[in-house]
Amino acid sequence: MLGQASAVMDPFPHTPITPQVAGAPPMPTLSVNHVIRGIQQGRLASSVPVDLDVLDAYVERALAEKLALSTASTETRQLFEHLEAPLTFVSPQRRAALADCDVFVLPFPLCVSYAHELAGRPLIVLSTGLIDLIANAIFASQLQSLLPQALETYYLLQARHDMPASDLVANALFLQLHAFRGCAPLPNCQALLSPQLLRQSQDAIDGALLFIVLHELGHHRLGHLDSDRIRPLRYRLIVGDALSIDQQQELEADQFALDSLIEPAQAIGTFWHQNAVNFFMQLELVSGQLSGTDHPAAIDRAFHADALRAQMGKDLDVHPRRAFFDTLAARYRATQRHAHEPDNALIHTSRAGCLDILKQSNRVLADFGIDLSPVWETPAPGWLDTRVS
Ligand SMILES: [Zn+2]
Repeated sequence: MLGQASAVMDPFPHTPITPQVAGAPPMPTLSVNHVIRGIQQGRLASSVPVDLDVLDAYVERALAEKLALSTASTETRQLFEHLEAPLTFVSPQRRAALADCDVFVLPFPLCVSYAHELAGRPLIVLSTGLIDLIANAIFASQLQSLLPQALETYYLLQARHDMPASDLVANALFLQLHAFRGCAPLPNCQALLSPQLLRQSQDAIDGALLFIVLHELGHHRLGHLDSDRIRPLRYRLIVGDALSIDQQQELEADQFALDSLIEPAQAIGTFWHQNAVNFFMQLELVSGQLSGTDHPAAIDRAFHADALRAQMGKDLDVHPRRAFFDTLAARYRATQRHAHEPDNALIHTSRAGCLDILKQSNRVLADFGIDLSPVWETPAPGWLDTRVS
C-alpha cells in the first residue's frame, strides 16, 4: 500500500542522477559567495554553535577553492540515493513542493542545514558534517545496545564516581562525536556493527535525513525566511519554558515535515524526527547546556515527537513515554546544576580523556569478547559513501 507513492514522477527534476549531458541547460549552482553567506548566516541545524574560528577556516577554504555547489554534484546525487526509499512515504503534493527547490550538499564537516533563496528560487543546503554526525549518533546508540549488562555495575573510579562504565562509554562516544564539531575525525562506530544492525541503521539514518530536508522545506513553505509569523499550535515542553518566535518556527518546521508524510507513515516519521535530534539531545544531557536561543531544546523536540506518536498510535497500543522523558529532564537539570564543575560535567573531558575512558572500558569488555578498538583505530567512512544492501 505504501508502495503506491513510488509511482509519482521524479520529484527532483533539477537533480539528475546521471552526469550532465553536453548541450543540456546548466544545472543550478551556488556561487562561492552564496556558499559563504550560507556558512555564516544559515540557520544552524541545532542550537549548539560551531566555533567561529572553525567557520572562518571553512570560509577561507571555500574562497581558496572557489567552491561553487551544484545540484549535480556527487554528494547531492548520493544524498538522493539515500533518500530514495524514505521518499516513497512523502505525499505527492510535498514531493512536488520539494521538486520546486534546489538541494545542495556542502562537502564540509560542518554541522549546518539551512533554507535560503537564490534568484527567487528556494534552496536547501545540508552539510556532509551534519549527515555524518546524525549517522554516527545512530551508530553510537546501536553500539551502546551491544554493551554487556555487567558494565552497568562496573565503575572506573579514576574517571567518575557517580556513573557506571556503560554510561561512561556511551558519553565518551558522544563526546568524541562532539569533537567533530571542531572538525576532528569521527570515531568509527560503524566498524563494530553487524550487517543486520547496519541495515537497521540505514533506515533510521536515511529517514532522519529526509526529515531534515522536509524541515527545511517547511521553513520555505511556512514563510519563515521573510516573516516572524507563527501559527497557533500547542507544543508540549518538558525542559523549556516559553518559546521565542524562532524556536516556535523550528517546531512548526518539524510539524510540517511530519505532515508531509502520508498518514500511515507519520508514526514512523516521529522516529525519524527523534533520530534527527538525538545527537543534540545527548549533548544536552552530557553538558547540561542549551547553547543558543534560536532552536528549542532537542529534548523538547524529541518529547513532542514522542507525544505525537502516542496520539497517532492510540489504536495501536503505542503509549507516551512520559516516565522516560521525566527521567531525561531530571538528568538534564542535574547536569545543568553541575555543568560548571569540572569533575561533574563530562563535557569538560577532553578528546584524549574520552579516548582514555574507552580504552579503560575496553579492558573490561575483553572478557565479554567485545573489542572497541576499531572505533578509534580505523577512519570512519562518510555516510553518503556507505552502501548497505
Ligand atoms: Zn530549522
